[in-house]
Amino acid sequence: MPTLAEFNAATPAECAALLKGVYGTAPWIAERACAARPLATLAALKAALVRTVRQASRDEQLALIRAQAQPAGEAAPGGELGPEESARMRALSADYLARFGWPFLLALRGPRGSGLPGAQILATLQRRIDNPPEFEFAEALRQVHRIAELRLNDAFGFVPEQGNRVWDWCERLARHSEVPGDLTVTYLSDAHRAAAAEIAATMRDCGFDQVDIDAVGNVVGIYHADNAAAPRLLTGSHYDTVRNAGKYDGRIGYFIPMACVRALHRAGRRLPFGLEVVAFAEEEGQRYKATFLGSGALVGSFRPDWLDQPDRDGVLMRDAMRHAGLPADLAAIASLRRDPARYLGFVEVHIEQGPVLHALDLPLGIVTSINASVRYVGEILGMASHAGTTPMPVRRDAACAAAELVLFVERRAAADGDSVGTVGMLEVPSGSINVVPGRCRFSLDLRAPSDAQRDRLRDDVLAELAALCARRGLRYKVEEAMRESAAPSDATWQGRWEQAVAALGLPLHRLPSGAGHDAMKLHTVMPQAMLFVRGENSGISHNPLESSTADDLDLACAAFTRLLDQLATP
Ligand SMILES: [Zn+2]
Repeated sequence: MPTLAEFNAATPAECAALLKGVYGTAPWIAERACAARPLATLAALKAALVRTVRQASRDEQLALIRAQAQPAGEAAPGGELGPEESARMRALSADYLARFGWPFLLALRGPRGSGLPGAQILATLQRRIDNPPEFEFAEALRQVHRIAELRLNDAFGFVPEQGNRVWDWCERLARHSEVPGDLTVTYLSDAHRAAAAEIAATMRDCGFDQVDIDAVGNVVGIYHADNAAAPRLLTGSHYDTVRNAGKYDGRIGYFIPMACVRALHRAGRRLPFGLEVVAFAEEEGQRYKATFLGSGALVGSFRPDWLDQPDRDGVLMRDAMRHAGLPADLAAIASLRRDPARYLGFVEVHIEQGPVLHALDLPLGIVTSINASVRYVGEILGMASHAGTTPMPVRRDAACAAAELVLFVERRAAADGDSVGTVGMLEVPSGSINVVPGRCRFSLDLRAPSDAQRDRLRDDVLAELAALCARRGLRYKVEEAMRESAAPSDATWQGRWEQAVAALGLPLHRLPSGAGHDAMKLHTVMPQAMLFVRGENSGISHNPLESSTADDLDLACAAFTRLLDQLATP
């Protein structure tokens, strides 16, 4: 079994021999990755190999993919396919090869490293065969890296034990769902309460000193410091889900700290600060319009009128609370408000829910800010007229104006580099095939890492809307529908995450969060910073295809442990 020390001391040819078979028959990868030595960790070695392949020529990459490939479906560990499905797999594999020019490639050991069911392999092939060729080429390379990662683990005798544990916890928690066959856990449903009970039981197993379900349903675990007066680090994320959700959104945000507490407890180790891990009861706003209810309760932003809000079946929140065994008592809810003076700060680990880390082949990313956002709904008013008889120069076409606006939003947001702008709704009310559109309704969603950047983007977009309507002789109305301030990461805490990730031997990548998170709420009262974990399948989220590997989760556990160690040794 090779060691990193051997790899660091070897000649390039010897390095290639040490890693023989990891990337199939391609000695150049190990030889070139040698330039990055010394490599401090196995994760650093993996990153160096990935970078080498990223920098290789397209021909070299293609040769690598072709050399790896075996006919899919011949080795499907963990699940056998029936004769019909096997025939389907063979036919699709042939189609795939004909379409792309390289065979279908999938890491058959999957995200847990223990094998994919045959049905999932077939479903993956069915899904991927429709990808654009460039996208699929990149995906094939990622599968090569995943296969190599698992081979490296075997070669170096490494097992991602913490990551496996978190992965298994996510899998187990996902059995609680309101809808059989998918994952749906909305606030205070029976599945929600079962999930809370399971999280609480797992916390107790981990060795937390105190585990409670609070007045809004948050599961709160406390691991005491070595002295009772010490402040606490607050961390966590939500356990409710959207409908037909992924298994990792929110959930890794308390499972990763729980795995770290489990290790501390097993080592008999106390920290000079307490650790308070919260699984927030509600973040997604699915059953009630009360988004961030769980984390909001900790900062005093629970709105009393929410208790009288009905869900779509007419069940008031206060009755749902009582049904769940909660007091539905405003004084009890108000008492959940935390005194910031007792806390060091808030950190949150979350799956990225976007494609950035996946595209860069990076397991972890440092969040710089939760983006500021603003939303509008608007309407452009022109003149509906006969499509056949109205000459082009005299038309007052509301849809053409909207089209100009859409393209301007795209261009202007892209110019910032890290702003995003979306026109997600576009409608010609009672439009006809033979009528020049007299009205066009649109929505506008603008986000940027700071309030000032968002406001400049908004000002430019609204100015363009005014200008193009004036030029085209149109009127418009626009109404602000929502506005959220940015939650920039605290510089010191962001620095701690950066140090933690760098200590693992991983490249640093900083990115803003386009989505909202519980950290936004805690941001209003204490310093906060988030760590993102790469999502598989281009980071798809709020979808059953959301996925994370045990190896990435293991790195997140290691980063969290490093963060705790930094705080423990000032
Ligand atoms: Zn989430």
